[in-house]
Amino acid sequence: CSAVGKTYHDAGTSLEVLANIEFSVEKGQRIAIIGSSGAGKSTFLNILGGLEAPTTGRVTVGGEDLYTTNEHERARIRNRQLGFVYQFHHLLPEFTALENVAMPLLLRQTGLTDVEGAAREILNAVGLSERVKHKPAQLSGGERQRVAIARALVTQPACVLMDEPTGNLDRHTAQDIQALIKQLNAERGISFIIVTHDLELAKTMDKTLELRDGGLFSPQ
Ligand code: ATP
Ligand code: MG
Repeated sequence: CSAVGKTYHDAGTSLEVLANIEFSVEKGQRIAIIGSSGAGKSTFLNILGGLEAPTTGRVTVGGEDLYTTNEHERARIRNRQLGFVYQFHHLLPEFTALENVAMPLLLRQTGLTDVEGAAREILNAVGLSERVKHKPAQLSGGERQRVAIARALVTQPACVLMDEPTGNLDRHTAQDIQALIKQLNAERGISFIIVTHDLELAKTMDKTLELRDGGLFSPQ
């Protein structure tokens, strides 16, 4: 993206969260974004992911401008190129792990004939082959997080954006997720942009940037 800025206006006040940030991720690159609570990390990730328009600047994905096109085009680019793991997992509670992971393929009408097979394969890859019929409430926090990661990956995106993927997980489970990210990056060449408070996870990335005072900096 180039020169992305974001100012929130509400209740008669305005808050400049992001001030003209220049940022890019290369194919297969893993970038961690750290910063204190309220620094604007989720806002920045949402802008990169096509979920929230910036006040200024442009975001391009694979050469296509995310925000000058219409809603439909934006959804198409997002669905084809990006995967998203939210700060709170947002799994659908009434559906099984398998159905949650298959959902993006069904919604996108990819023409894929074996949707269930594709969803099972990615659930295998995140180590959940024994849990496919469980609903979110019947899974542990770490398992739910892995279902959310599987759902982000099932469409084979070029880049996955994650907001606190190891938040609320114990150290051991967080390390499992950390290893999974590394493996998926090595095997499939997926780029990752990961917002995290987990400095151990950040250390395993190619590069760490700190969001502070509306800008992105090398950590002090
Ligand atoms: P955390 O680590 O706690 O998740 P964050 O770095 O992700 O924090 P953001 O959620 O991006 O922070 O929020 C940045 C700032 O923008 C905060 O001060 C927040 O209150 C404000 N903010 C976020 N969303 C909105 C909104 N829709 N309208 C107005 N202000 C907002
Ligand atoms: Mg946040």
